[in-house]
Amino acid sequence: QSKTFANGSPRKTLVILGSGWGSVSLLKNLDTSKYNVVVVSPRNFFLYTPLLPSAPVGTVELKSIVEPIRAIGRRSKGEVIYHEGEASDVDTVNKVIKVKSSMNGAPHEFDVKYDYLVVGVGAQPNTFGTPGVYEHASFLKEISDAQEIRRKVMTTVSSAASLDPSDPERKRLLSFIVVGGGPTGVEFAAELQDFVDQDLSKWMPTISKEIKVTLVEASPNILGMFDKSLIQYTNDLFKKEKIEVKLKTAVKEVKETTVTTKCGDVVEETPYGILVWATGNAPRDVSLKLMSKLEEQNSRRGLLIDDKLRLLGGNGSIYSIGDCTFHAGLFPTAQVAFQEGVYLGEVFNKIHKIDQLKWELSNTQDKSSQEKIQAKIDIMNSKIDDFKYHHLGALAYIGSEKAIADIAMGESRYNLSGSFTFLFWRYAYLSMCISARNKVLVALDWIKVSIFGRNSSV
Ligand code: FAD
Ligand code: NAD
Repeated sequence: QSKTFANGSPRKTLVILGSGWGSVSLLKNLDTSKYNVVVVSPRNFFLYTPLLPSAPVGTVELKSIVEPIRAIGRRSKGEVIYHEGEASDVDTVNKVIKVKSSMNGAPHEFDVKYDYLVVGVGAQPNTFGTPGVYEHASFLKEISDAQEIRRKVMTTVSSAASLDPSDPERKRLLSFIVVGGGPTGVEFAAELQDFVDQDLSKWMPTISKEIKVTLVEASPNILGMFDKSLIQYTNDLFKKEKIEVKLKTAVKEVKETTVTTKCGDVVEETPYGILVWATGNAPRDVSLKLMSKLEEQNSRRGLLIDDKLRLLGGNGSIYSIGDCTFHAGLFPTAQVAFQEGVYLGEVFNKIHKIDQLKWELSNTQDKSSQEKIQAKIDIMNSKIDDFKYHHLGALAYIGSEKAIADIAMGESRYNLSGSFTFLFWRYAYLSMCISARNKVLVALDWIKVSIFGRNSSV
């Protein structure tokens, strides 16, 4: 793509950090022929996170829920350059990103210049500084996490099977603990129990009966963002499915084979075989570094943005979307990040027109022409509305082919639960898949599982 347009005006460089929900939605809605578009992300694919809890137990295959970033870029109008690497620092004065990458296995660092920057780096798992989490627990955030959990489940079950039923080590290995009763923890606990009841029970009936799935939640309720009736429905179903829910119980430490919990004044040490940590989000290092540089960034919860998604302190050239941000009324969900990406795509299409007019203005000597161009710029600027989030509702899979849904239609809210809601959940999640390829692969996975069961080979 040429560095200038036909009229001689420079083509500006738009750098997008991240290849997640926000960044990909932006990429899909941006006229990429209007900018030099550069994507920097350590992950060379988009990950469809809503189906990630299904992946460790094989309800869907990992390859079905990813889409290469280069394939997404190829489908856009203009060229999209992709750098596989991690933005480690942003020089907001000289408009340069420092990127950490690797070349032939050796660490490699380089700079990327920008005119406009969109920070969509997401968040990292929050451990609240709990000792032992990084060393002994698994997260459920990335594809590699799902692979790790899958491997751990299969090896742990095999190891337990080789032990005598009276051996306490067997009981420990078959104790699976999920920490965090948000939607990630609930959906994963449900998928795990499905796998045990629907698949493992056929090949290892004795072992499957001994497996105990426990969900540990620090607050008085799981699924805090859902209506009380849906929380109750989930609690009742979990009771039937024999998933133990420990409420008002905070994990204080994770050791190699035991976890320390505190409920009121009672401190307990519980042996476990596998522990999955799903207690929400914390800012990434690059976001923290950016916050520390800008006076206006005085929250530790995320990058502060204005109503047009501009980074506070970013001088109008930096925008930020998705889980790395913190703004009242905008939650860390795919739904929010997706809508922000759509909005920002439209904004950048308008900004291009404004920049073209500004270039014309700087090349015009005639006073009255200048005034006309300036008036056009003012009109274009006034056409950039604030971002408005439209909440469509929330869905969660809770096991045994049942789901819960909190549907928002205008001012009205509808709470649905059960098997019909599960079909709706499947329909909604399939239609939200980013590409036709993902839709087909996910649908085929579901059909295969319903006929042959889950493929749990590592
Ligand atoms: P992400 O999608 O996390 O993308 C961040 C991107 O930035 C990634 O590509 C990452 O590799 C990249 N990156 C990281 N560090 C750097 C760096 N230093 N430089 C450059 N790039 C970097 N939300 C819903 O609305 N519905 C759901 O059903 C749902 N299910 C979920 C299930 C799970 C298991 C999880 C973990 C989350 C789920 N969410 C769901 C939340 C949703 O996934 C997030 O809100 C969404 O991914 C946020 O999008 P994002 O673009 O901000 O970040
Ligand atoms: P979350 O922040 O929603 O929930 C984390 C839970 O962990 C909280 O309930 C918290 O009380 C608990 N917790 C924190 N520390 C603890 C400790 N030491 N011991 C025990 N419990 C502890 O996190 P999440 O579930 O990972 O979700 C992250 C974001 O992604 C949310 O915005 C969520 O809405 C979104 N998400 C949505 C869906 C969906 O819509 N189906 C699915 C997954 C994630």
